[in-house]
Amino acid sequence: LILKEHIIRNPRAETAVIGPAGERLVRYATVQCGTRQLGRGGIGAVMGSKNLKGVAVYGDKPIPIANEELLKELVREQVKQLAAAHGTKRMQRYGTAAIHALINQIGDYPYKNFRETFYPDHEKLNGEEKVKRTIRNTGCPNCMIMCWKFTYAREGPYAGAWVDGPEYETFCTFGGLLDIPNLDVVIYANQLADNYGIDTISTGVTISFAIEAFERGILTTKDTDGLELKWGDEKVLLTLIRKIAFREGIGDLLAEGVKRASEKLGRGSEYFAIHVKGLELPAYDPRPVKAHGLGMVTSNIGGSHAIGYGTQEVFGLPTKVDRYTIEGKGKLTVYNQNRLAWGECCIWCTFPTRSEWHKPDILTKIINAATGIDFGGFEEALKIGERIWNVEKAFNVREGFDRRHDTLPERFLKEPIPSGPSAGQIFELEPLLNEYYQARGWDVATGLPTRAKLEELDLKDIADELEKMGRLGG
Ligand code: SF4
Repeated sequence: LILKEHIIRNPRAETAVIGPAGERLVRYATVQCGTRQLGRGGIGAVMGSKNLKGVAVYGDKPIPIANEELLKELVREQVKQLAAAHGTKRMQRYGTAAIHALINQIGDYPYKNFRETFYPDHEKLNGEEKVKRTIRNTGCPNCMIMCWKFTYAREGPYAGAWVDGPEYETFCTFGGLLDIPNLDVVIYANQLADNYGIDTISTGVTISFAIEAFERGILTTKDTDGLELKWGDEKVLLTLIRKIAFREGIGDLLAEGVKRASEKLGRGSEYFAIHVKGLELPAYDPRPVKAHGLGMVTSNIGGSHAIGYGTQEVFGLPTKVDRYTIEGKGKLTVYNQNRLAWGECCIWCTFPTRSEWHKPDILTKIINAATGIDFGGFEEALKIGERIWNVEKAFNVREGFDRRHDTLPERFLKEPIPSGPSAGQIFELEPLLNEYYQARGWDVATGLPTRAKLEELDLKDIADELEKMGRLGG
């Protein structure tokens, strides 16, 4: 009621609200802002646990700019760089679906609960299919790329359903991962997930886990209210989305996510519960992309592709790096993570920043001109990112995380990819982690930050606190 009154008083107010899934503390409940979602990590459940339905905000003060003339000049240069980038044009046409064919082509596309990495039916879900269904191009305020696409389902029982998306991740997790090569179904399922307030990545991966558990006889129709869980069945997807959001029947178990669900089910199901630190993996298999995979393994929020994306391996940007080589990937991952940590605290959009469609030095100049503070150039920016990363890491360390948690389900460590462009690849966890911790200046045996590194970053107080807890690396 308070929320509604705020919105009535100021129609320009922006809102962040949870849906029925957040109210029921589904572990991967989202927060909805306009037509977009804060999807990962279950922030909707956090709000639900505090009986917080939503927040409305509005502002009426101008935003002061330190050097407006210089800022305008720099932004003109930034726009020039973005306009010249091939990636900008592809994002303008397809949104993130631009990468669907590529990820499949390089054999990195999760298919049937990450057992395989090439989707034979991928063409039915490609970017052009999205363009055919796009009714509106839009985006974040003042963005020249406008990668958001409002799409609608064209045919069949879901015709007319519409959504802001689907993004690449949802193409895969509601599509290829479950062997459902029908974009109209994906759009409708995406709309349901948004309306209920659940993350499409975690939802799809959890349903995929449930289907494999059913195939192996770990779940039966007695557990699923008679529903036969199988690949390629849209009824399974649509039914389970609702059951999860409302914690009905089997949905109550699946609402816990794959880590907790597999711990409850046992019988070896941990082997194919696809997560890192309890967060379901996104639509990339870590085995054929070592730095990208290492980024997901060591991400401070668990299995996220968004924080330290290995663009060099996946897109060859800003410079191409061999995907399968493991040497140098620890160092590369540290670079990608530090760059992203800095970029996100400046609120640079991740897409052009990580692929460097606009050059890092123009971004640092813009921040300096806007704030009037000389933060230095890109070297200093990376140092800021490193500092952020170490503070986040220290938070996790305080909560009990260490090297044991920087890992993957055994499927990726023991099972070579059976076929397709990346056949034979596994994830070489131990050597990759060793190099990563060395590059971070942390203790290799435990993965804990060292006093020397924390003090170098002006974080002595954190080093003192971790030492008191016996959680400082040697
Ligand atoms: S800022 Fe980024 S996410 Fe937003 S519309 Fe532009 S490219 Fe897309």
